[in-house]
Amino acid sequence: MYSTKCPHCHQLINLKTEEVREAVKQTEAARQKHYEMHCPKCRKPIKIQLQQLKRKLPIEPAPETSTSEESSTS
Ligand SMILES: [Zn+2]
Repeated sequence: MYSTKCPHCHQLINLKTEEVREAVKQTEAARQKHYEMHCPKCRKPIKIQLQQLKRKLPIEPAPETSTSEESSTS
């Protein structure tokens, strides 16, 4: 959960972890340094630093490319 305030109208904005994850994905895909969203209240653009968002994400374990140990004995 990431929460911030709109710099324009001070509306409190909460982003769920899922939304933060999506925001980071979009931002990285666009090679931007900040995520841009619109305030639900005043509709003005709000910029959130990518680093700030990333800090809110749970650390995911590195994807293991393990050799298939699943013994498929059929
Ligand atoms: Zn606002």
